[in-house]
Amino acid sequence: MKWSWKLGRFAGIDVYIHATFLLLIGFVGFSYWQQEKTYSAVLSGIGFILALFLCVVLHEYGHALTARRYGITTRVITLYPIGGVARLERMPDDPRQELRVALAGPAVNVLIAAVLLAWLFFTGALPSVASLSVTSGTFLERLMLVNATLALFNLIPAFPMDGGRVLRALLATRLEYTQATHIAAVIGQGVAVVFGFIGLFSNPFLVFIALFVWIGAEQEASMVRMKTSLGGIPVSRAMVTEFHTLEASHPLSRAVEYILVGSQHDFPVLDGGQVVGILTRQDLMKALAQRGEDFPVSSIMSREFRSVDSYEMLESAFASMQACQCHTMPVTHAGQLVGLLTMENVGEFLAIQAALKPSRAHA
Ligand code: ZN
Repeated sequence: MKWSWKLGRFAGIDVYIHATFLLLIGFVGFSYWQQEKTYSAVLSGIGFILALFLCVVLHEYGHALTARRYGITTRVITLYPIGGVARLERMPDDPRQELRVALAGPAVNVLIAAVLLAWLFFTGALPSVASLSVTSGTFLERLMLVNATLALFNLIPAFPMDGGRVLRALLATRLEYTQATHIAAVIGQGVAVVFGFIGLFSNPFLVFIALFVWIGAEQEASMVRMKTSLGGIPVSRAMVTEFHTLEASHPLSRAVEYILVGSQHDFPVLDGGQVVGILTRQDLMKALAQRGEDFPVSSIMSREFRSVDSYEMLESAFASMQACQCHTMPVTHAGQLVGLLTMENVGEFLAIQAALKPSRAHA
């Protein structure tokens, strides 16, 4: 992950923090310094942001650990200034499971808020409801309010918020999955329009959220459309079968020749008939600039790659391509290289499917 630092690994999930997060901490520290001109104010301001983001991480763990109960792994949680993202390998197909995974995040914030409320109540530190304030209250009081806000905000019924998934899951218990997503996306975009409109007259931040929600709804709907059109089709139907391969001992100049005569970007590298690596266009260009074209392919090829069996379904092959952010995957069968699966080819395959069945592809 670019521009991210690993904070640690907890319960088998790597937690990363994005570089822009430091900007936020700097900004908060600076604005407290401007207001109060004391180090203690700056420290308590930053302390609050860190406590808030700990709650966000726990929210993401709520999603990830619930998904794990259904056999779905999460490798990475990344913290951005606008919140956290848990990269789940996939979403559960069963709507009741998706409902539980989606609700688990906000439930964590409700739980934290409830524990803080009980603590404040029993220690006699709870002010009257009217005087509760996110800006001037005590540390714990503010943390409680912020957790309640996080839970409510995430339950807005619009993608990419958890509420969008909750809504889709509820619809999907009665409707077909694509149709449920379509309705949830339309409702989400309706919410975005209302947000944007209110924002224009009050808070520019709302316009920003509206935009975020609009794009999220669009993405979710097109992902599901894609998933539906890929279901039940084997990889062999969409793979490239005319392509060049390289031998591990070939010089880089061979790859240059192939790139110039064709449109292939990435090359499977063979050694004794077995795929031993992938040479990507990007790595090739980098190596050419640094070392020239006489170097052997084996010295710069990537040895960590995923391959897929030609009988596997496109849907799962495409999901693992997205998960590893691979552009090209070698397709094998019975230990032999039989094809290449590329992002472009899958896209082309979908375009052809859509042209052949216009009514189904837009369902
Ligand atoms: Zn969430």
